[in-house]
Amino acid sequence: MSECIFCKIVAKEVEAKIVHEDPLCVAFSDVKPQAPVHVLVVPRKHVASVNDLLPEDEPMVGHLVLVAQQIALQRGIAGNGYRLVLNCGPMGGQSVDHLHLHLLGGRSMGWPPG
Ligand code: 5GP
Ligand code: ZN
Repeated sequence: MSECIFCKIVAKEVEAKIVHEDPLCVAFSDVKPQAPVHVLVVPRKHVASVNDLLPEDEPMVGHLVLVAQQIALQRGIAGNGYRLVLNCGPMGGQSVDHLHLHLLGGRSMGWPPG
């Protein structure tokens, strides 16, 4: 059995507030939100990080972005704007080794990030 926490959420072995699911991905609220809207969009397939993506994953990655776009619309943050983040590796701030797209919004995002 996978020890990956996001694989467990995808398999519904661990609880999460799921906001979207389809054959390619699952989206759920971040347990430690950094903004009023903080949703993680994760592929059902375990891919450890951006470094591990294969050419065949290209449609899946595009799909994650379009799902985030739809959730932003539904949550009413599309007009004011939001941030999509893909952290990769330790220096990129990645703490869970299962690819995930952060959707952050509902407050003004600073730049550059800390
Ligand atoms: P990273 O730092 O890897 O880019 O982001 C991982 C995110 O996953 C963090 O924002 C963290 O709060 C979130 N997270 C970690 N474990 C869990 C969990 O068990 N459930 C949920 N919903 N979010 C989690
Ligand atoms: Zn996984």
